[in-house]
Amino acid sequence: MNPAPSSAADTLHDMIGIGFGPSNIALAIALDEHARQQGALDVLFLDKQADYRWHGNTLVSQSELQISFLKDLVSLRDPTSPYSFVNYLHKQGRLVDFINLGTFYPCRMEYNDYLRWVAAHFADRCRYGEQAIAVEPQVNAGQVEHLRVVSLDAQGRQQVRRTRSVVVSAGGTPKFPQPFAHLRDEPRVFHHSHYLERMAQQPCVQGKPMRIAIIGGGQSAAEAFIDLNDGFTSVQVDMILRGSSLKPADDSPFVNDIFSPAFTDLIFGQESAERERFIREYHNTNYSVVDLALIERIYGILYRQKVSGQHRHAVRCLCAVDAATASAQGIDLSLRDTATGATETRRYDAVILATGYERQAHRQLLESVEPYLNEYQVGRDYRIQAAPGFNAAVYMQGFCQASHGLSDTLLSVLPIRAEEIAASLYAFIGRQGLPATSVGTEALLAS
Ligand SMILES: Cc1cc2nc3c(=O)[nH]c(=O)nc-3n(C[C@H](O)[C@H](O)[C@H](O)COP(=O)(O)OP(=O)(O)OC[C@H]3O[C@@H](n4cnc5c(N)ncnc54)[C@H](O)[C@@H]3O)c2cc1C
Repeated sequence: MNPAPSSAADTLHDMIGIGFGPSNIALAIALDEHARQQGALDVLFLDKQADYRWHGNTLVSQSELQISFLKDLVSLRDPTSPYSFVNYLHKQGRLVDFINLGTFYPCRMEYNDYLRWVAAHFADRCRYGEQAIAVEPQVNAGQVEHLRVVSLDAQGRQQVRRTRSVVVSAGGTPKFPQPFAHLRDEPRVFHHSHYLERMAQQPCVQGKPMRIAIIGGGQSAAEAFIDLNDGFTSVQVDMILRGSSLKPADDSPFVNDIFSPAFTDLIFGQESAERERFIREYHNTNYSVVDLALIERIYGILYRQKVSGQHRHAVRCLCAVDAATASAQGIDLSLRDTATGATETRRYDAVILATGYERQAHRQLLESVEPYLNEYQVGRDYRIQAAPGFNAAVYMQGFCQASHGLSDTLLSVLPIRAEEIAASLYAFIGRQGLPATSVGTEALLAS
């Protein structure tokens, strides 16, 4: 690690946002609106990507947004905002064509372009290619006065910045299941979050035959299955899932009410056991489920195989991967039928882990300030509750599902959440030294 040639340590920012994905882009817009009424705060966002892309390696041509475009970065709060998806379409000269498509669900490539278009308006307050690695307390006379955000740029140079507050919106971390843990550096085994770049290196790009296993039975697994079927005629795919079938995502209208802003209040107002019950009850809106249209496509592909007698792909349900080993010949998976207990070993040329994401990045980033935080309990304003004497503010977006409900990791309530955090931040900055949601925990720990 090399220190940066010049240090920004002298500047005291009002807020540093970690990550510049949809959550913090929405916050940048909300802060901009406040700035016009209340004066600008000194804010800076850091994103580790060299150039912003929304889950860029998953943008296969057939993937679609799984939420109405009306739930863009602003419209729920202010449909007249210049940062709406409709205005983006208008500025691109595609509004009429989009209307003619007759859909609420643009392709994800287009939504990525929309997010990039909005992000570009805030380029002056974002540093790309900088990965935040730690948030540290700056202690004076037993009080945490400010925070230090330590980051590394692409050359490994360290930068330290001081700030009154931090908003952690770093997104999910790809899940690598235990049987594959020792294969992290194996180029033939990769997580779906790297799909496009890793597929571009596979022999099937040159038309060579390949057997590929997709592990998982959710939306990403289904999208990869369709992409491999459509794009690589030399590939034979096995989709391997523990579940007994591919299940559809419930996006029926009454159920969709749980993604309304009002539902956040309802969830937050419950005891933790009741919150957990709600989240379990509606798990099938988002986790290990697939869009019905995609399920029907996959079923159709398998049915046509039966008609032709050419069995190219398979969906292997009730199937657990107990072990994986790599050799020059391929990746051997030890598979177990969870219904019968029967085991077999199958060899593949590549394995795609469509195994989802963990929400743990905040714990790593905030490790140094964790002793001051009340076990990451957040207030309604997404601010982590802290010990008295912790005079900085730490907010989180995307790590509050347990307290704020299933919308928290999605795009569902971005405009409302951004406004709630912006209002809380303005109140906090206006009341330095009187934290908005400090709790009566034990006295401030010595640093
Ligand atoms: C493939 C895929 C498709 C999805 N589709 C939908 C959908 O259709 N509808 C929906 O509602 N939700 C969808 N989601 C859920 C997704 O979480 C949200 O859409 C949205 O991306 C959340 O925004 P975010 O800003 O909180 O997190 P992210 O979009 O994950 O953004 C986090 C940003 O933080 C940056 N970052 C991470 N760590 C650091 C660090 N240490 N330092 C600096 N920068 C860092 C990353 O580079 C990234 O740009 C999808 C998720 C995936 C993976």
